[in-house]
This record gives sequence, C-alpha cells and structure tokens, in this order.
Amino acid sequence: MQKYTLVITEKPDAARRIALALDKRHKATKMLLNGVPYYVAERDRKIVVVPALGHLYTVAGERSWRDFYPTFAFRWVPRFVAERGAGRIRTWLNSISKLAEDADSFVDACDYDLEGSIIGYLIAKFACGNKEKLAKRMKYSTLTEEELEKSYTQLLPNLDFAQVEAGITRHEVDWLYGINFSRALTISAKNVNGRYEMLSTGRVQGPVLMFLGAREASIRCFVPTPYWEMRAQLEIGIQICEALYEKTIATKTEAEKLLHECLQKTGQVEKVVTAQHLQFPPFPFDLGTLQNEAYRVFGYTPKRTLGIAQRLYLDALISYPRTSSQKLPPTIDYRAILRNLNHFQSYRSLTAQLFELTNLKPREGAKDDPAHPAIYPTGSMPERSLTMPEEKVLDLVVRRFMATFSSSAVIQAMKAYIKVVSHLFTLTGRRILTGGWQKFYEPYVRTEEVLLPSLQEGEKVKVREVLLSDKFTQPPSRYNPGSLLRKMEEVRIGTKSTRADILQILYDRKYTKNERIEMTDLGFEVLDTLKNYCPAIVSVELTRELEERMGRIQTGSETREKVLEDVVNILKPALDQLKTNEESVGKRLSTAIAKARLEERIVGSCPVCKTGKLIILRSKKTGKQFIGCSNYFKGQCSTSFALPQTSHVSVTGKCCKCCEWPTVEVRARGKRTWTLCFNPECAAKKRRKQVGMQGMS
Ligand SMILES: [Zn+2]
Ligand SMILES: [Zn+2]
Repeated sequence: MQKYTLVITEKPDAARRIALALDKRHKATKMLLNGVPYYVAERDRKIVVVPALGHLYTVAGERSWRDFYPTFAFRWVPRFVAERGAGRIRTWLNSISKLAEDADSFVDACDYDLEGSIIGYLIAKFACGNKEKLAKRMKYSTLTEEELEKSYTQLLPNLDFAQVEAGITRHEVDWLYGINFSRALTISAKNVNGRYEMLSTGRVQGPVLMFLGAREASIRCFVPTPYWEMRAQLEIGIQICEALYEKTIATKTEAEKLLHECLQKTGQVEKVVTAQHLQFPPFPFDLGTLQNEAYRVFGYTPKRTLGIAQRLYLDALISYPRTSSQKLPPTIDYRAILRNLNHFQSYRSLTAQLFELTNLKPREGAKDDPAHPAIYPTGSMPERSLTMPEEKVLDLVVRRFMATFSSSAVIQAMKAYIKVVSHLFTLTGRRILTGGWQKFYEPYVRTEEVLLPSLQEGEKVKVREVLLSDKFTQPPSRYNPGSLLRKMEEVRIGTKSTRADILQILYDRKYTKNERIEMTDLGFEVLDTLKNYCPAIVSVELTRELEERMGRIQTGSETREKVLEDVVNILKPALDQLKTNEESVGKRLSTAIAKARLEERIVGSCPVCKTGKLIILRSKKTGKQFIGCSNYFKGQCSTSFALPQTSHVSVTGKCCKCCEWPTVEVRARGKRTWTLCFNPECAAKKRRKQVGMQGMS
C-alpha cells in the first residue's frame, strides 16, 4: 500500500478547497468512508485530506452523575461520550483513525487560532495515534488556491504547542466555571420547586450581567427633568435659518419671557468662525469592529454577522474573520486584490481611482493579532449565488478595504454667533470640501451637509419666529448587541470568538430580552445571588486577570497547572457559600423563574375589561388550552377565547394588522407555523370567510 500524507481540516468545505488547491491538476477526488467525506489529491506524492466537524473532543466530568457540586475532576473525551445526540462523531473519528493507519506524515490544516489548534492537536493525538509531535502545521488566512499552495510549501515544522496549551486551559477553566455554577443554581432552584430548569453563569457571563444590571438600575431609578429649548428662525437674504439659543431653559415662565424678548427683533452677527478638520480613513476590520458595523448598518446581531463572515471565508471570498488585527501587512498583494475586484461591475470606478495612487498604503489601527491580518476581501467571484445578507456583509468588507487606502475627508465646519437683544444664538453649518475615503465607503458613511448662507460680522438679521420645544432629560440608553460587545472588548473580557455566543446565552437563559438589551427579573435575581454569595464570580477585574493569565500561557510565561489550581481556589469558597445558602438562594431563584414563566404566557391586555391581562391557560377540568383574562380569578371578567388543541401556542408580542388585537403563534408538528388572531370579530377573518364562500358557489 502506498503511504500518503494525511491533512486534517476543521470543516468539510475547507477540506475540499485544500485538496483542489494542492492537486497538481486541481482535480481532487471526493471519497466517502462510512459516510465521512475525504479527498484524495495527487502531487509529488498522494495526499488525503479529511475534515473534522469543528470540535470532536470535549471536556467532561470524571463521573457521569449529574446532581452534585462542586466538581473539579475532568478529562478530555470524544464528544459522543459526553453529549447526547453526538453519535455521528463516533463514525467520524473511526473514519479518521482508519485513514491515519496508512499515513506516514501528518499536517494540521485547521484554522490558525486557539480553537483550530486544539481541534488539530486532539485529532493528531487521539484519533491518529499520538502523532501530535510528528504533525506539521499549515498556516493560512484565506482559502484561495494561491495562498493554500504557498502555505503548503512552507509548512511550519511543529504544531503550536503553546497555543494548544492555552486553548486547552481555556476550555478546562470554562468547564469548571460552567458546570459548577449551572449545577449550584439549577439544583438550588429545583430543590424548592421540584422542576429542572437550566440556570447558569459562566466565567464571562457574570461580569456581563454586572454591566447590564448597573445600566438597568440607573435606567429604572432615572427621573426625567423637563427643560425647554428655544430656536429662532432668522431671515438671511432669501433664506430662513434656524439658530439655537445657547442655553437650555429650566422653567416654562423663563422660556416664555425669553420668547417675548426675542420675537420680532433684529439680531446681529457677532462672530463667524470657520474651521477645517480632517476625517481620517477607517481602519480595516477586526472581527469586533465588523460585528459592530454590521449591527449599525444592517441591524445584524454579532452572532449572525460572525456566521455570515465564516461562510464567506469558507467560500474563499474574504480572509479569516476571527481576527483581532486592524492591520494589512504588505505581504498581502493589495494590487492583485483590487484587480480581482475589477470583475465586479460596481467597484470598477472605485478601483480605478485607487490604481492611480502611486503609493498604495492602508491606514492601520493599533490592534494586532499574531495569527491573522485584518479581514479583507480576496476579490474572488462567488461560485454560487450569495444570499442577500451575505452580499451585504461582503460589500461592507470590500468597501471598507478600499476606503482604508484612500485619503482623509476634509470637512469645513462653520459656526455663527448671533445676538438678539442680549441673548446669544448659534448657527452651525457643515460642508464636505473633499470626500476622500467617504466615496469608497458609501452608503455606510454619511456626513450630512448643512450649508449656511454667507454671513458678515455685524450683519443684521431679522427674527421671523421664535419656537419653544419642551424636552426631558433622557435616561442612559440601553446596551444593544453592538455596544455590549464593544464594552466587553473595552474591559478585555471574553475572546473575539466567544463574545457573540455569550450574548446569545444570556437571551437563551432569559436573563435578557429585546434588542435594546433589557435585563429581566430573572437576570437580576441571578446577578444578586452571585453578588451576595460569590462576588468574585461577577468581578470584572478578576475575570480580566484570569483572561490575561491564560493569554500568557501562549507566550510561555504562565502554566496551565498554575492557572487551574488558582481557578479551583477561587471557585471552592464561592461554591461553598452557595451550598450553605442553598435554600434561600433556591427560594429567590424559583420565585423569579415562576414569574418569568407566567410572563411568557401573557398575550396582552384584555380588550374587554381593559385592566386584566390575557394569559394562555390550560383548564384543570378538561385539560384544554385557551386564552383567559387574569381578572377571572378575581371574579371580575370572564373573557375567554378558544385555541387549537393539539398545537403549541406561544406569545408573539405583535398585534393583528387588521384589528390590532394581540396575536399568538401556533406551532404543530409537521405543519407550517402560523400567526393566529383570536379575535372572533376580526374583519380579516370575516373577509376570508366570504372569499371562501364565493369560491364554493
Ligand atoms: Zn378582562
Ligand atoms: Zn385581527
């Protein structure tokens, strides 16, 4: 049997691309072994490329018994051992082992970062039979043929063991936090209400709950203060301009007094100040900035954006997205990329402008990443038709890339001070002198121009009208997925790859709701519990410190053993505290859970009695589900509506377009989910009935 080189990739798509790129005729053969795809490529020797399915191994407890804590004993096992529903992993690993038998050299071609390094290392060690010392490492940032070819001829002689160590530690630390707190919280609530409801907090979730709690508290206790704003409409030549009074006004009496003093008067231009300022081109995207920007311009959550970017990367359209770099090193052939982008009609006029520059140099940010450059487009044409969101994210990356090479925009700001009697008003104008990079980044950037008429100092202007508007001071705004992600980055907790998931977990656990992130009562209870009994767990400082120490394992100045030992020393007293107070913790949490469950069933206000709430209920007598008014229990309102019986009915939070009653969502096995307006008098329903009858006649 001819021996071959076994190349291991993280995902099936990557395996296909790598095999195609490495085959001398760019024609690799796809094979199946027990349903697991792999590719055979011919070069100077035979190459077999086999993919993983992301992580094939995981951390698991020594014992499978689930109802105790604290627990600090763990081991690495194939995922099918620890997770229900991961049965496919068994066949997958068997197939990799089988393919490894006839291989005499090994290449780890998983994504070049913490996660990829662990995936490749564990496969080489466990599935290939202790080949981790023998394996070479393939390092690349895009899945284009040129880069894959180059990276294969320049294989790194060893796996990056320090990175593997850091990655493994991170998983172990997260497991220790996750398993112990999930059990402590879940078990204490279950002991009180007898129901198993998953509660959790992780190493990073705790501090994030802290930010959200602090913000939510300041919003809840915010008292808005009224104030008045005054504007004067000035006649300047043939134009009317609105000037703003320089101060905010505290009382209505004062506002009205000022209004009368200024009305019908003539003002005088005191001073005109103009200034030019530069708006520098933006940095190329690191993952966090891309997620933020995609949220700002498209409203995509960070998790969604990462998913889309990952897809575009596997299609060789953009470089590796899980990067914290804001740099584009000159080893990237900028001109070649721009030439490729020329294939897209819509970028042609822009690339032409960049080709005219003698020195093509990107503006770079401060953040760096040892493994990957900033996110950039490869310029390749898509081989399939992209979905609308994919097209949008790709366009954002392309325009951002081009913008970084362009020049600064020059903005002229103008401010005129106008005195009316003794009161000072200001007029503010803005004009774009040079668009610079903004032309490349349209439509994602917009500087609104406000053009002012030319004004001379001393010039008289007539006050045509004075307008008062009453306003209120605003509470601090809620975090949105973009700004919360930025906050996590700012205080340096979590990693670029995990932050988006952490936000999702908070929603899944019902600690937060809505896009403008609002903390739920359950979130508050969990946070309060942790703050009371184990403040170390929600401490931003401690979390960051641990984060930094794990980072130092990568550079060899910290060890896995020492970090794990210290983590156990942090966790032990915290968990002891929870255990000692298990009953009171359980009572509070289960009350909050019950409330959250009830809230989930509230459909909206009762349209009949106006004070009750409509709730999805189930009759004790008949077992039937229906919608009833909460005032029924007080004997005040007996409004009720029938519901389909064999389906799952849930709250939508949306109103019927026709009658504006709240609606519910009906989900039945094997059928399409639909929205139901349960108002028997709804006009939409009557119309539908009529159409139906006409159809019959
Ligand atoms: Zn009612
Ligand atoms: Zn309706």
